Amino acid sequence: MIEVTLAKSAGFCYGVKRAVTLTNEALQQYNELYSKGNVVNNKNVVNDLEEKGLKRFSTVSELASNSNVLIRAHGITNEELKEYEQLKCNIIDATCPNVKKIHDIVRKYSNSDYKVIIIGDKFHPEVVGIASYAGDNVEIITSENEVKKYNKVCIVEQTTFSKEYAQRIIDKIVLASNEQIIYNTICEATSIRQSDAKKLAETQDIVVVIGDKESANSNRLYEIAKEINKNTIFIENVNELNINKISNCSKIGITAGASTPDDVINEVINLIKREIF
Ligand code: SF4
Repeated sequence: MIEVTLAKSAGFCYGVKRAVTLTNEALQQYNELYSKGNVVNNKNVVNDLEEKGLKRFSTVSELASNSNVLIRAHGITNEELKEYEQLKCNIIDATCPNVKKIHDIVRKYSNSDYKVIIIGDKFHPEVVGIASYAGDNVEIITSENEVKKYNKVCIVEQTTFSKEYAQRIIDKIVLASNEQIIYNTICEATSIRQSDAKKLAETQDIVVVIGDKESANSNRLYEIAKEINKNTIFIENVNELNINKISNCSKIGITAGASTPDDVINEVINLIKREIF
């Protein structure tokens, strides 16, 4: 018998739902709405919002004063925020409250004798944003090899980083420093998705991860499942699904990143059901 199991956590998290709702509301309210970068990390969602009128900009010089500016779910830098304020922009802040909380923590320690350490991907916009609130008193660590010797440290994590990998880095920092304040800032939505992906990888013949290739949390789900179950595939949408890969599997596990819309997930499930059953 063939079974298709969809992870309960698959799809939009609270922060993405909130950002999409705020954007849709603002699009109804204002004639022009601008955002820098993707509001959330999913092309389908972004294309849909752009079709409804959301305009993208790359640098603040493209904005007129008093523009309506939407801040994406994973936040912006302190410098960008100041630039919008100087232009007297009307700011619609869709930054996820979980990310805001990290901004507040690093701001608090920015002028202290604790070195702020962010565990995360150095070039991810969320991490770049968090780092900007710590001023010069910050170091971003992505792997265990980068850990040095420290005196006092305040540690935070990128919300979508791998829980297990972050813990390994933290263990090493604890050994290499004299005093630590540790904030576990990997968000609950991420932890639940990672643990569900792990369970699927342990119990299913194949795991299909659906998400945008630029989405950090979707990539992480893929890495976690792939490490346990080599028969894991990562697709953005139904068009990328090679049905031959799953035709010999009787237990098919499906999960999706926190910014993958339900209709994209359902299209994949429907194709599998049509072709396999
Ligand atoms: S993954 Fe977590 S931090 Fe990111 S938007 Fe979703 S709830 Fe917020």
